[in-house]
Amino acid sequence: MSGCKLTFYGGVNEVGGNKILLEDAGARIFLDFGRGFSRRAKFFEEYLKPRSANGLVDFIEMGLIPEVEGIYREDLMEMAGKKAGAPTVDAVLVSHAHADHVDYISFLHRDIPVYMGSTCHSILKAIQERAPRDFEREVLDFVPRPSKRGTRHVERKIETFRSGKKFKVGSLEIKPIHVDHSIPGAYGFIIYTSSGAVVYTGDIRLHGTKPEMTREFVDEAKASKPVALICEGTRLIDLPVLESEPLVYRHSNALVAGHPNAPVFADFNFKDMDRLRTFYRVAKENGRKLVVKLKDCYYLKQLSKDPNLGIPNYDDKDIVIYKPKQVSGTYADGDYYGEDANFAALPNAKTAAEISKNPSRFLCAFGYFGFAALIDMKPPPGSLYIHSASEPYNEEMTLSQDRVNNWLDKFSMERHQIHCSGHAKSPDLFHVVKEMDAGMLFPVHTQHPEMYVKATRKMVVIEESKTYSL
Ligand SMILES: [Zn+2]
Repeated sequence: MSGCKLTFYGGVNEVGGNKILLEDAGARIFLDFGRGFSRRAKFFEEYLKPRSANGLVDFIEMGLIPEVEGIYREDLMEMAGKKAGAPTVDAVLVSHAHADHVDYISFLHRDIPVYMGSTCHSILKAIQERAPRDFEREVLDFVPRPSKRGTRHVERKIETFRSGKKFKVGSLEIKPIHVDHSIPGAYGFIIYTSSGAVVYTGDIRLHGTKPEMTREFVDEAKASKPVALICEGTRLIDLPVLESEPLVYRHSNALVAGHPNAPVFADFNFKDMDRLRTFYRVAKENGRKLVVKLKDCYYLKQLSKDPNLGIPNYDDKDIVIYKPKQVSGTYADGDYYGEDANFAALPNAKTAAEISKNPSRFLCAFGYFGFAALIDMKPPPGSLYIHSASEPYNEEMTLSQDRVNNWLDKFSMERHQIHCSGHAKSPDLFHVVKEMDAGMLFPVHTQHPEMYVKATRKMVVIEESKTYSL
C-alpha cells in the first residue's frame, strides 16, 4: 500500500492561489484551483497580461499554473502546441467562491467535475453574469478558443453539496462542513483516505458572525483524528486586535449618526454579505437608503433568493441603484451589458444629480473603482469615506491607497478605517492546530508558515510541487 499523497502547486508561501493535489488508491482530486494574485503580479499587470492567443503557454512558462498532465482544456493545450489527454483527475473540491481559490478552474478539462456548496454556486453565477467574459474567469462555463462568432460555450460538470452530507469520489469519502469566512458558502473538508483522515480548512475565522459553524468543523475534524491538516495561515504575523462584525456596525453607525447631513461613502467587498447587511442596517437606522452600483444588482438578485442569507433584493424599498451618467448612448462610467439596462430603468434607479440633491438621505456603497461618480456627485467638504476592507499589505495595495487618498484630498473627504477580517487571528489559528492535533501540519495560504512552530512540532515546511506521502 502506497497510501495517500499530497502535492502543493499553489498557496505555498503566498496568500491565495491554493492548488493542492490529493492522490489515494487510484483517486486523484484537487483541493481548490485558484489564481495566485501575488505570483501573477510578479510578472504581469494591467496592460501586460498572459496572452490567451497562446493557450496556456504563458501561464505554464511563468509558473502561474503547474505542468500536470491530463488536467487542462483540450482547446488551450492544442493552442499551446501540446497534447491534451483524457482527464487524469477525478474532481476539484471548491472551498469557497473567492478568486484566489477558484479562478483557474477556468483552464481545467471540461470532464473534470467541480464540487461546491450551493450558495457558492449562486455567488459564482452572479460573478459570471456581472462582468463580460474573461479568459481567466470562466469557472462555471467557458468558450472554447480560438472563439469565433457564435462559438457555443461549454457548461462544466458542477456538483453541489451541503454541509455534513458525505459524498464519494472514487475510493474517497468526503465530508464538507460549513465554516465562517468573509463570503457565504465557505467549507472545510474532511477526506477519508487509506492513510486516515486529511483535513483542509479552506479560509476560516472564529471571530465572525457565525463562529459556531467553524467550531462545528473544528470539532468534527478533531474527532476524525487527522493524519494531516492543511491549514490556512493568512494572518499569522498580525498582532491580534479587537474586531467583530458587531463592532463594525457600532462604529459605522455612530459615525454616520454623528454626521447627519454628510454624504457617506462605504468601501467594502460586495461579496461579504455580513458587511453588506451591516451597511444596509446602518443606512436604514439613520433614515438613509443604501445606494448600490448597477453591477452589484447581480449579487442581490442571486443571493436574495437564499432565505438563509437575509439579503435584500435590488428592488427593496431601502435600496437605490446608482444610475451611471449616459453620454450619447453610452455610460460615462464604463461598459455595461445585458441586464444592466433593465436595472438602470427601474424606478429606484437614481442619477448622481438626484442623489446629490439630498445626500443626507443616502449611504453610497461605492468603492474606489466607483470613484468616478464623485466627479458627478461633487460631495461637499467633510463627506465621509469609510474604508471597510483590509489595510494594504503589499506594494500594489499601497499604491492604490495613495490614489484613494488623492481622491479624498481632492474632495476634502474624511477617511475612516472600520473593518473585521475574514481570516482567523493567530491565537485562534494556533488553538485550532493544537486542538486538531494532526499527525502532520501543512501550512498554506500564508507568507509566514514558520510561525506555526509556536503551535506544533509536526509542521512541514512545504516545498512547491514536491510530493509528500502520509
Ligand atoms: Zn477567501
